[in-house]
Amino acid sequence: MDWGNRKDILVFLEQKEGKAVNVGLEALTPARTLAGLTGGRVLALVVGTDNAAAAEKAAVCCDGVLSVEGSAFGDGCADALTCALEAMVNKYVPAAVLAGNTPLGRELTARLSARLCLGSVQDATALKIEGDQVLWTVPVYGGTVLNDVAADTLPMAVTVRSGAFSKPEASVAAAVTAETVEVPADAVKARVLEAVKEISEAVNLEEAKVIVTGGRGMGSKENFALVEELAQLLGGVVGATRPAIEEAWVSRAHQVGQSGKIVAPALYIACGVSGATQHVSGMSGSGYVVAINKDEDAPIFDVADVGIIGDAMQVLPVMIEEIRKRKAE
Ligand SMILES: Cc1cc2nc3c(=O)[nH]c(=O)nc-3n(C[C@H](O)[C@H](O)[C@H](O)COP(=O)(O)OP(=O)(O)OC[C@H]3O[C@@H](n4cnc5c(N)ncnc54)[C@H](O)[C@@H]3O)c2cc1C
Repeated sequence: MDWGNRKDILVFLEQKEGKAVNVGLEALTPARTLAGLTGGRVLALVVGTDNAAAAEKAAVCCDGVLSVEGSAFGDGCADALTCALEAMVNKYVPAAVLAGNTPLGRELTARLSARLCLGSVQDATALKIEGDQVLWTVPVYGGTVLNDVAADTLPMAVTVRSGAFSKPEASVAAAVTAETVEVPADAVKARVLEAVKEISEAVNLEEAKVIVTGGRGMGSKENFALVEELAQLLGGVVGATRPAIEEAWVSRAHQVGQSGKIVAPALYIACGVSGATQHVSGMSGSGYVVAINKDEDAPIFDVADVGIIGDAMQVLPVMIEEIRKRKAE
């Protein structure tokens, strides 16, 4: 690929309540691979009202942080954020613009692509370099088909799936450059007037290192408490299949799968989960999978590193007791 004068890779680093969102930091990893090809820098772009914490986090993982601060960016307004992103793309002429595959990341890259006529790839889970071609792997049909997608424009705009890439190792902190972007009043076509937070427990499945998931096989809300107990004991987060949620054993925020959250913990324990495609597509990026199911032919065993054939209501109490004992030693 002829990169021309485009060398740098720009990564939009989304923030949530003043903190850098993990998938934004993870996007710095494929950015580093691309920068190795172009000979350019990896630049993280942070936009908000107080970028200090996110900029500090990014600085140790890239070659430079661009910090755009201003009251216009306070409510996460996509119109204003797109202005900032476009201004930085025009100024730094990157070869690629990357973001996390979050609703905001998808919206911003799509808007940028529409404005600048860019090739856009969404939800990439891997990056391959073949000859001089940059290929992004994009799962479709619930992860049953993996497409290799090439974006033939410079810059290209790409979102990456949470958990698909590891965060870069921290090294010496790069400089943070304050940039100013004026957002014209007529550029803002829609504003967030009020944000109403759901009053529920915070469920951070995407960033969890351990997830214990319960499926229909748990049988009842009372039995589902075993899943919660094991998750708590391991310092993990509770996941659930769709039927477990439909049974109201746990809130929808816990759903893993095609229409729930895409997760990639180091350890995933599936209890009474059959392993339907729509579920597996959400957890196949897990590091180590333990499955407990009484049906030895359950498809979940195809993706499990350790399979326990048995009744979850008998296996889980033993596991819990054993872990308690070991923790007490
Ligand atoms: C468009 C679409 C989107 C969907 N999105 C999602 C999604 O995001 N997430 C999701 O999870 N599903 C989703 N589904 C539903 C999905 O197809 C499956 O129906 C669902 O994942 C099955 O959940 P399950 O494994 O809990 O239940 P089941 O398939 O009923 O499996 C229960 C399992 O528990 C085992 N079992 C029973 N009793 C015990 C016991 N005592 N001990 C141990 N094992 C036991 C059984 O052997 C069985 O394998 C979606 C479906 C569609 C059509």
